[in-house]
Amino acid sequence: MRQTPHVALLPSPGMGHLIPLLEFAKQLLHHHHISSTLIIPTTGPPPQTQISVLESLPENINHVFLPPVDLPEHLITNAEAQIFFTVSLSLPFLRDTLKLLTSKNRLVALFVDPFGLDAFDVAKEIGVPPYVFFPSTAMALLFCFHLPKLDKMVTCEYRDLPEPVKLPGCVPVHGRDLLEPVQDRSDVSYKKLLENVTRFTSSEGIVVNSFLELEEGAIKALQVEESGKPPVYPIGPLIQTDLSDGSDRPECLKWLDDQPSKSVLFVSFGSGGTLSHDQLNELALGLEMSGQKFLWVVRSPSDKSDAAFFNAKSHIDPFSFLPKGFLERTKGQGFVVSSWAPQIDVLRHGSTGAFLTHCGWNSTLESVVHGVPLIAWPLYAEQKMNAVMLNEGLNVALRPKMNEIGIVEKEEIARVVKELMEGEEGKKVRQKMKGLQEAAGKVLNEDGSSANALSELAFRWKN
Ligand code: UDP
Repeated sequence: MRQTPHVALLPSPGMGHLIPLLEFAKQLLHHHHISSTLIIPTTGPPPQTQISVLESLPENINHVFLPPVDLPEHLITNAEAQIFFTVSLSLPFLRDTLKLLTSKNRLVALFVDPFGLDAFDVAKEIGVPPYVFFPSTAMALLFCFHLPKLDKMVTCEYRDLPEPVKLPGCVPVHGRDLLEPVQDRSDVSYKKLLENVTRFTSSEGIVVNSFLELEEGAIKALQVEESGKPPVYPIGPLIQTDLSDGSDRPECLKWLDDQPSKSVLFVSFGSGGTLSHDQLNELALGLEMSGQKFLWVVRSPSDKSDAAFFNAKSHIDPFSFLPKGFLERTKGQGFVVSSWAPQIDVLRHGSTGAFLTHCGWNSTLESVVHGVPLIAWPLYAEQKMNAVMLNEGLNVALRPKMNEIGIVEKEEIARVVKELMEGEEGKKVRQKMKGLQEAAGKVLNEDGSSANALSELAFRWKN
């Protein structure tokens, strides 16, 4: 009898890359009985947040940690460079693992994310068909296809372009709002990104964690058939599903239980986002000034906005950085947690009424699935692009304005928070988000657009 297909998945460092890939593995298993192995590159002992999601995986989704690699300091100009090089330095270990897997399984695909295209060489050498798993928007994927052309046409930095970049079917995006790694064209992470996206066309297919009803224009543009362009499968929204079982309920959820329906603003900057000390102060004072209830995941400040990306836990007590007397004054109005909260449990809680988010794509999809309207506060990666789409394109987010030195002041924070929780504009945004939530509820059901895209992919491997 022919063996059932098996898939290998290579997540680059970061929870935002691991979680959706893991959910993809679960979809393949539950709907198509396709087993898989996650092959995880490392630079040291894996963080606890990573271990706990991996430990709760069902049978037939395996994981292996590759031996840690040493990153030469001169290569590590920023988080993106660190991610790219962690993957490329892990290739010899990946080769060994793939060989072992092929000896035992009918390996039909190796999936890499946009930081892992170097692994295509290994996949091809061993004869495993290479695929891309794109854990962000269809719009960002479209931009990746467009980047090699833009690189040839434009000589200045993209942030200095006089006109916004117009991608087919998408809201126009100003150069300064494009992905972080394209903001400095002389940096090694720009060169690596360009190299990586140029290789997208050599994949057998690209899976994107989005859905037709959310990004119709971009997805249709991606699916226009052109020679040399791989098929694109929109299979989202895939969000984390291994939630707490209700025992040992965290304090923040107990606090939420006691709040009125939809009265609380959840404030969190993803697994890695950090604010400067000045900005942390303004945010605290702005939340207080808004008079609205809030649940805030506080991290120690840093001058780098992605300082916690590789390990969300702060070393120093983050509450010690809050303004003097803040915790006492906001008792009853707010609840603060240090570094990490059970985000999906918070978003699906009836007391949560809005989410101030860094617009990471997983956080965004989690809000869409639970119908929670947003305040868009992007920090790094492709988050500014997401914010433009959420605010100007989909109208499901309000976006506070920064002052001339890049700080969002307390008065502006209080204004936007009040507007979203109580104002007329807030009502419209809430209504729009409800519409998206309804659409998201259908796409993964039988005959939904995303379920069909996944079946199409599985069908390729089964036949
Ligand atoms: N997350 C969480 N608790 C936190 C912060 C983040 O559970 O306190 C989860 C969140 O639900 C999401 C992921 O971590 O699934 C963050 O991914 P996202 O793409 O939003 O942002 P990134 O961390 O990659 O910037």
